[in-house]
Amino acid sequence: MIPAPFDYHRPGTLNEAVALLARHGEDAKVLAGGHSLLPAMKLRLAQPKVLVDIGRIGDLRTIREQDGKIAIGALSTHGEIESSLLLRQSCPLLPEVAATIGDAQVRNRGTIGGSLAHADPAADWPAAIVALDAEIEVAGPKGSRTIPAQAFFVDMLQTVLGPNEILKEIRVTPTPRSVAYEKFAQKASGFAVCGVAVVVENSAARIGITGVAPKAYRAAAVEAALRGKFSASQIPSAADKAAAGVEPLGDIHASPEYRAHLAKVLTRRALQRALSRG
Ligand code: FAD
Repeated sequence: MIPAPFDYHRPGTLNEAVALLARHGEDAKVLAGGHSLLPAMKLRLAQPKVLVDIGRIGDLRTIREQDGKIAIGALSTHGEIESSLLLRQSCPLLPEVAATIGDAQVRNRGTIGGSLAHADPAADWPAAIVALDAEIEVAGPKGSRTIPAQAFFVDMLQTVLGPNEILKEIRVTPTPRSVAYEKFAQKASGFAVCGVAVVVENSAARIGITGVAPKAYRAAAVEAALRGKFSASQIPSAADKAAAGVEPLGDIHASPEYRAHLAKVLTRRALQRALSRG
């Protein structure tokens, strides 16, 4: 399939990219790795008149320490996150999640910013980002703004990003080693039928779940059940609440009931593994 005609721009800086988006408004789309956008354009599900290719903006591709946090540029590929020494030492959940995404070719091309901006309900990153309480910085014509991860996702394939905004970086606070990601993958693509990210810190757990609902969510009922009494014996009964309050999706890969079941089982396993690492 051949995409509809479009104009192509390759700005060298973030400011130029933002200016191009401001000039072309809703006609324009940001191009990162192209792993989701190009197939959509080939199927003519997306027909942007202008593509703003941010792939050469080096500033968006760094992973660095800044003011006690770790800032991950939006263009960082899954592979770069998987192999980052800084992240392995300071935020091991992210390399663990990266290693489960697709295959080597996908990890070499797909970007964390593109994944978050696309907001596929089966993407892996959203689970980790909400469990880590990350913050997301976006740049627009009026400057930058910072959005807490839980407020970033609105619905299936929808975020709070405006049409003129570019996701710039994701910032996380360093964590202890007591983290885990458990995933039941769709066999052909690797996308998550269900994925559960857990961070255990200060005798409490933060749990992000992807694949089950239209957007990733924090398993608040499980977190509450463990608060103040977190121990191995409490995990099974708490994990049973992993799908409380959500309406699980159903499709050719899994029924709503099966997704709810996976959420419980994977939450239990992720909590047990994270606790064993602590
Ligand atoms: P693009 O395709 O370039 O962009 C995607 C969307 O985000 C577009 O709408 C674009 O305009 C917008 N966008 C991109 N970057 C920005 C930005 N910085 N600011 C604002 N908007 C932006 N993902 C998983 O989570 N798990 C998997 O197991 C998995 N397996 C895959 C297997 C295959 C075969 C393929 C093709 C993809 C798979 N993916 C998986 C998804 C993939 O890894 C990418 O993360 C995802 O497709 C986003 O692609 P991209 O970074 O190339 O962004």
